[in-house]
Amino acid sequence: MSDEKSLNFIEEIISQDLAAGKYKSILTRFPPEPNGYLHIGHAKSISLNFGLAEKFGGATNLRFDDTNPVTEDTEYVESIKADLKWLGFNWIKECYASDYFDQLYAFAVQLIEKGLAYVDDSTAEEIAQQKGTPTVPGTGNAYRNRSIQENLELFAAMKAGQFGDGEKVLRAKIDLASPNMHMRDPLLYRIKKVHHHRTGDKWCIYPMYDFAHGQSDSIENITHSICTLEFIPHRALYDWCIEQLGIFPSKQYEFARLNMTYTVMSKRKLLQLVQEGHVQGWDDPRMPTISGMRRRGYTAESIRDFCDRIGIAKRENYIDLSLLEFCVREHLNKIAQRRMVVTDPIKLVITNYDQDEELLHSENNPEDPNGGTRPVPFSKELWIQKDDFMEEPTKKYFRLGPGLSVRLKSAYIIECEGFDKDDAGNVTTVYAKYFPESKSGSDTSGIHVKGTLHWVSAKHAIPVELNEYDRLFNVEDPSNAEGDFKSYVNPHSLHSVTLAWGEPALLTDALESRFQFLRKGYFYQDINSSKDKLVFNRTVTLKDTWAKEQKK
Ligand code: ATP
Ligand code: MG
Repeated sequence: MSDEKSLNFIEEIISQDLAAGKYKSILTRFPPEPNGYLHIGHAKSISLNFGLAEKFGGATNLRFDDTNPVTEDTEYVESIKADLKWLGFNWIKECYASDYFDQLYAFAVQLIEKGLAYVDDSTAEEIAQQKGTPTVPGTGNAYRNRSIQENLELFAAMKAGQFGDGEKVLRAKIDLASPNMHMRDPLLYRIKKVHHHRTGDKWCIYPMYDFAHGQSDSIENITHSICTLEFIPHRALYDWCIEQLGIFPSKQYEFARLNMTYTVMSKRKLLQLVQEGHVQGWDDPRMPTISGMRRRGYTAESIRDFCDRIGIAKRENYIDLSLLEFCVREHLNKIAQRRMVVTDPIKLVITNYDQDEELLHSENNPEDPNGGTRPVPFSKELWIQKDDFMEEPTKKYFRLGPGLSVRLKSAYIIECEGFDKDDAGNVTTVYAKYFPESKSGSDTSGIHVKGTLHWVSAKHAIPVELNEYDRLFNVEDPSNAEGDFKSYVNPHSLHSVTLAWGEPALLTDALESRFQFLRKGYFYQDINSSKDKLVFNRTVTLKDTWAKEQKK
């Protein structure tokens, strides 16, 4: 983020706080719940939290918000850490809300002692009923008048496992008539006799989000606790708990969550896609997860760039998926190695080429002056794209057809002399002569052509497999479309080209290389690729073809 840019509203608050001497330095946190893999929405929150700390010379904690033992797992903890590192962010401390369970319990006891919390035996339905509605005040119940002593004993008994799940809860005693429903005696603790991925079976009562989050912020001395807009109504409770406990005054600020077209952005929904086999896993390259994007070939730089460009807003909106793809293309154009791969091939025979073969050189990246070149073998028989040849060329067809000339990329100019067809009428072989003096780099032929084709020498060609991806959903907003969001999964979101011919450099290229296959798109080697069977994922097309296709 450049310094000249005007400050966004959170940066504005932070710079005022620092100027007023409220804090010596700022501390933010990224608080994922380890119940799924990180997605692009989390990347937004990450880049915001870590970005603010970077900008203002502060630091960021990674805090696992692991207060809901039912859905959480260490697999997710590990994946979250790996994704953060890959994105290029470093946290100063790795924290777990579960490490604060003792402290949080002590805080709850303090509230009880102050007459600000009570044990309620009502069922969830009764509590909901007694809460009233935004226009009708709630009604209390007899449990609300329990003595401090009784509450202390019952809460201790809850902790000791003397009651079953749902038999009792601990509630804050605030205001049953508050216009903010979250202040109508919110739940602080519930009984859940389940194993926790870190604390094992030590606890059978677990704090609710509203009692864990703010207090965890405070325990860590977080100065600016940034969350998404749906937490605005929780802010009063966040402040209330901190004030009543007299602990470090962390402050909550809200921004609009990232929503993106043609995707869903909730771990719960992404989990369904995985569990029901709509995709092959959390890291399926079609998934909006960081691991899926990484496997597809998106770069961390382009994801960070995207997050910076969209900025932060105070109102919900939708960001077009094509903006993310634009950022990916921009970066890959600068760094990708150019290679030639022919899909849907036909044979091209150079009739007057009498040498056995020769090594030509082709530049790796015209955008990078230091990108160097690679050797590309050329011989009498080549593979070219079937659709680069037309039996009866139309007027503006600048590719190959009887009598037409083109340049073969980094090689020679050729002129088509004829072609063969099989019994079914398909063109099988194209014949052309080449002009030896037209060699790229030392062309003295004086011949001008409009089209340049990519090609691969047939005897040097290596088979490769390509996975071409399209939008995972075929509607812009699957979450809000009628019916089950999964019914909008695009059945053509994966197209596998099982045989394409690639140039031999691909065999020796580094695994992590980014490629532009000329005239095809940007590609990245899949994790299941091997020297015996090279598999590439199409990261993104060369141009935004989606908008055009939609209009067809
Ligand atoms: P999900 O609904 O996908 O499970 P969540 O908000 O429950 O999302 P958390 O693990 O609790 O997921 O989120 C960690 C942090 O990331 C939170 O601070 C949350 O506000 C933020 N976050 C999650 N989704 C988005 C999003 N789409 N845009 C911006 N921030 C997000
Ligand atoms: Mg959450």
